[in-house]
Amino acid sequence: MADNVYRGSCLCGGISFQVHGSPEKVFMCYCQDCVKNSGAPYQVCAKFQNAQLHVETSLNATEGNFVITKTTSGAEKHKRFCTRCGCTLWTIPMTHSGEAVILRAALLDQGLEKLRPEAEFFASSKPSWVKSLDNVKAFDTMPGR
Ligand SMILES: [Zn+2]
Ligand SMILES: [Zn+2]
Repeated sequence: MADNVYRGSCLCGGISFQVHGSPEKVFMCYCQDCVKNSGAPYQVCAKFQNAQLHVETSLNATEGNFVITKTTSGAEKHKRFCTRCGCTLWTIPMTHSGEAVILRAALLDQGLEKLRPEAEFFASSKPSWVKSLDNVKAFDTMPGR
């Protein structure tokens, strides 16, 4: 899978990027941050290493940063977004000392088709009308908590 390349962009296309290789894991997250940020019952997240991500900007778009301090782990999460269109790109959890990026799978070309979630995080917050996928592991909050 070393030659695997995913391409993605924000809503306006001002920030485009590639990720090389496979994600460490793909999960659906029902936490309040994901819900507010996506406007949907959950966000599909793909965890990559920062080193796998290659970013390009154009159209005067820059990468904005919003720091979330109230987190389950207690460590900050840095939410990166496009300053031109406001689209969230990824979050960088400081629990992994900035080495991991939690990328929105929906931003990748065919990301939601290619990256099927294998787990649900914060499943305890899932709306009653949302059905789980078959064969996904559900965690009340996050694994190990
Ligand atoms: Zn944009
Ligand atoms: Zn979340």
